[in-house]
Amino acid sequence: MNLKEPNELPSALDHVNEMLRKKGDRSFLFFFDFDGTLAPIVAQPDQAALSDETHTLLKKLAEVYKVAVVSGRDRKDVEAKVNLHNLYYAGSHGFDITGPNDMHHQHPEADNILPELEKIANEFEKAFQEEKQVKVEKKKFAIAIHHRGADKGVIEQLEKRVKARLANDQLLKWDKGKSIIEIKPNVDWNKGKAVLWIMEQLGLNEDNCLPVYLGDDTTDEDAFRELSDKGVSVMVEDHDQKTHAQYAIKEQKQVAEFIKQILSYA
Ligand SMILES: [Mg+2]
Repeated sequence: MNLKEPNELPSALDHVNEMLRKKGDRSFLFFFDFDGTLAPIVAQPDQAALSDETHTLLKKLAEVYKVAVVSGRDRKDVEAKVNLHNLYYAGSHGFDITGPNDMHHQHPEADNILPELEKIANEFEKAFQEEKQVKVEKKKFAIAIHHRGADKGVIEQLEKRVKARLANDQLLKWDKGKSIIEIKPNVDWNKGKAVLWIMEQLGLNEDNCLPVYLGDDTTDEDAFRELSDKGVSVMVEDHDQKTHAQYAIKEQKQVAEFIKQILSYA
C-alpha cells in the first residue's frame, strides 16, 4: 500500500461523482472522526462543538444512510457533543461502541487495564501540574495529555517521560497526535477494527455497502488502511504526514460541503 502526501491526493469534493459510481446500487455507510473532522480543533478540547450547519447536515445524512462517529473521546462525551440519536458512536478509539437497536460493545480486555491507567494518569498529573499548557485528561479507556501551546522543551520532556514510563509496561501503549499524547490499552484494537466490527454487526459488507471514512489524524490511519480495498477514505486538513487515505479535504469546514454534495444526490 502506497503512502501519499495529503497534497498529492485528489480532492474529495471534486470526486463525489466518482464515489457514487463506485457505490453503484449499494448503500453508503459513513464514518466520521469528531475533532478536526466534524468539529474544528479548539484550544480547549471540552469546548469543541459541531456547527449548527454540520449538526443539521448530519441529521439529514443519517435519515438516508447509516452514520457512525468514531472518536478518541469517551463514547458518552462524543455522543453528547453530536447529540443525534440515530447515529452509531464508537468512543475511546472504538473500545466502547453503541448504536440504534441496542448495539453495544465494550472491549473485554479493557477493564483489566483501568487500574493501571488510573495510576499513570495520577503520576503525570502530579509531574506536570506546574505546566499550564499541559493538561492530563483521564478518559474511560485512555489518558490524553494535551499540550497545545506548550514550549518545545516541555513537549520533549513529556514525550521522554511517557516513553520511559511505558517502556516495560505490557498493558499500555502510547502515541502522538495533534498537540496530544495518548496512552491507551495495549491491545490489538483501533478505529479500523471498530469500523469493521460495526459493519459486521450491521450485516454490511462489500456486496451491499460502500463505507466512507473521514478523519484527520494518525489514529484514523488504521481505518483508512482497513478500507483501502473496500471503501473510500478521506483525509481532512493539510498534513505533512503521509497517509493511507485515497482523497483529501483541505479544510475542516469543507466537510459540511462534502455532506451537502452527498445529500444532493440522495
Ligand atoms: Mg480527529
